[in-house]
Amino acid sequence: MPEPVVVLIEDEPQIRRFLRATLTGQGYRLFEATTGTDGLVEVGSRQPDVVILDLGLPDMDGLEVIRRLREWSAVPIVVLSARGQEGDKVQALDAGADDYVSKPFGAGELLARLRVALRHTAGATHEDGEATFAVGDLRVDLLRRHVSLGGAEVHLTPIEYKLLTTLVRHAGRVVTHQQLLREVWGPVHTDQAHYVRVYMAHLRHKLEAEPARPRYLLTEPGVGYRLAVD
Ligand code: CA
Repeated sequence: MPEPVVVLIEDEPQIRRFLRATLTGQGYRLFEATTGTDGLVEVGSRQPDVVILDLGLPDMDGLEVIRRLREWSAVPIVVLSARGQEGDKVQALDAGADDYVSKPFGAGELLARLRVALRHTAGATHEDGEATFAVGDLRVDLLRRHVSLGGAEVHLTPIEYKLLTTLVRHAGRVVTHQQLLREVWGPVHTDQAHYVRVYMAHLRHKLEAEPARPRYLLTEPGVGYRLAVD
């Protein structure tokens, strides 16, 4: 497989230096831009496999970069955002970003996010024919609609199953409350955020050894949920 190409749009020199060392050391080809305007040009000319985007840029809002990119590109976008700014993350995800890491972040966390983003690019997604999802003791057989934990079948209600398979479709990536409402309950229910909380609690009760300290169904505070992939 050729080296994955990354375009990094970030104005902070320290973060660029850190990412340059991390990514080139891992065999990524990295192209950098320090403004939104230059970033859009870089993405257009380099045709990257993934974009890493800082939300706070000197010339335009990172959200605007996402919206403009999404007019012509489906490239995975991983957003860098300041910790605590959950509203920004949700807006970025709703505008079309695929995932985010919060600053300050470690190399391992970012590389894991990039691997997930690239796996989705490569078409090796569960929706594209892979009929089974497995992590730890949890197994979801999408073809036979069969869920098991350590080999024992788990009985889920239709809504619980739909919630789980929605997370499986986005495995490893964050899914916002809004996305879950839209995909599980449909567009008319997107203001019923408590549905997600209630059914997630049911699902954890059935799938997690310690529902209060989940191993699979992880909470992204203020944003949504993420299904663990390892
Ligand atoms: Ca910045």
